[in-house]
Amino acid sequence: MLNSKEYLIQKLTEELEGFKPSPSVYKTGKVVSVGDGIVKAVGLSDVMSFEMVEFHDGIYGIALNLEEDAVGIVVMGDVDAINEGDEVKCTGRVLEVPVSDSLLGRVVDPLGNPIDGKGELKANKFYPVEKVAPGVISRKSVTQPLQTGIKAIDSVIPIGRGQRELIIGDRQTGKTAIAIDTIINQKNEDVISVYVAIGQKRSKVARIVAELEKHGAMKNTIVVMAGASDPAPYLFLAPYTGVSIAEYFMDKGQDVLIVYDDLSKHAWSYRQVSLLLRRPPGREAYPGDVFYLHSRLLERACRRDQKYGGGSITALPIIETQAGDISAYIPTNVISITDGQIFLETDLFYQGIRPALNVGLSVSRVGSAAQIKSMKKVAGKLRLELAQFRELQSFAQFASDLDEDTRKQIERGKRLVEVLKQDQYKPLAVEKQVAIIYAATNGYLDDIEVEKVKEFETALDDYMDTRGKNFASNLKKEANLTEVIEKELKEVIAKVKGEF
Ligand code: ATP
Ligand code: MG
Repeated sequence: MLNSKEYLIQKLTEELEGFKPSPSVYKTGKVVSVGDGIVKAVGLSDVMSFEMVEFHDGIYGIALNLEEDAVGIVVMGDVDAINEGDEVKCTGRVLEVPVSDSLLGRVVDPLGNPIDGKGELKANKFYPVEKVAPGVISRKSVTQPLQTGIKAIDSVIPIGRGQRELIIGDRQTGKTAIAIDTIINQKNEDVISVYVAIGQKRSKVARIVAELEKHGAMKNTIVVMAGASDPAPYLFLAPYTGVSIAEYFMDKGQDVLIVYDDLSKHAWSYRQVSLLLRRPPGREAYPGDVFYLHSRLLERACRRDQKYGGGSITALPIIETQAGDISAYIPTNVISITDGQIFLETDLFYQGIRPALNVGLSVSRVGSAAQIKSMKKVAGKLRLELAQFRELQSFAQFASDLDEDTRKQIERGKRLVEVLKQDQYKPLAVEKQVAIIYAATNGYLDDIEVEKVKEFETALDDYMDTRGKNFASNLKKEANLTEVIEKELKEVIAKVKGEF
């Protein structure tokens, strides 16, 4: 019989033998200063760039500035609750966002939390927000069109899946409208859209979401929002969160469209964060690595080779210019990173030419490789005639009497401009685009008054929706303007004109 002392010893020995240490070592540091949403901490010697760090009460921050003796941290949450002397823990995890199919149709903040009041999101996967872009070997050139449904773009500045096309223009020139129409046009396609709203008013984004719902496009769209009243680090983070979500779908072999609305505000937020972190300011007070920031982001858009799962990310970044100045720092940066730009002008917008696209200054460097053949055929002529029209128009302003040929060409040009006008929220199927552009460039509209061109277009669309349904689907299927189809197209135009 053991006495109580021996019993105690035996029990303790047993306990100790059964003890398996499970070390959970936290590297902890101390907060040395707090201010303007930025925390300086010491003692986090092993912290990684972009690593999440944890303060008390589940407040997180991101380590951005790794200096020799201190770390600069931006706080994602209530910075007022953090005081000098507080403890801060490394988590060993670079910033990640939850990703899953259930994101479709939802609005999330840059940390991936739902903010649309539609309940919790289920996610079992996490993607890091910073990632090295796919290498050249796994990429493939652009071969498939991304139809925007906007005549002026699909014809003259076509975009291919995997391309990066900048939308640039002053305030209120219809930049967002182009991006939203493009998203709406994907509703019956196999393309998933991610709309990243950076620094816009909440009410504005709510209206956009409502429009997407109304047009049935929200079901395959995800909205990432950092509003105008959110702290700068949220704005800075938003596009990375967006592209990580896009990568999740691309990794599944899907085609994704991502809109960054807009990268000017993103650059501002980065400037703010950097100045608070006391990084040296450079040109226009932006930190020197702002170019690298945007190139790293846009480089993640690509078309993957089939061997690497296919899939693509098409990026439409938006940049706001001041008084049309595209030579400012951020615009020139982003122009040089992208594969072309859609240039919008205030003057055109107020002349009623909407979308206010400057066809002369806008370019798409890779998209025409992906354009469908029939569109390519009619668009070549369109581009040429528009260029001639612009030349003649400026010259004709000073000439009193014009010869017959010049007058005719100007009249043709006016009709082309009319055809390229398009209302918001009305993306047009590619076969209908081909039909009306064919009619305009081949002179079938010359004897219709300019004011009546829109009416004729509506009549042609209606015909293709009803009696001409078979013809429309042939035109779409064939994707090439064969002699047979062209003959049919001529007949259709003649018929609609006869009834007009
Ligand atoms: P901001 O600089 O404020 O972001 P923005 O350049 O994104 O502006 P939008 O908000 O897209 O411009 O459009 C400005 C206004 O022009 C809106 O009221 C919109 O409804 C209208 N608009 C845009 N495109 C068209 C169009 N094709 N036809 C008619 N109205 C349009
Ligand atoms: Mg806008």
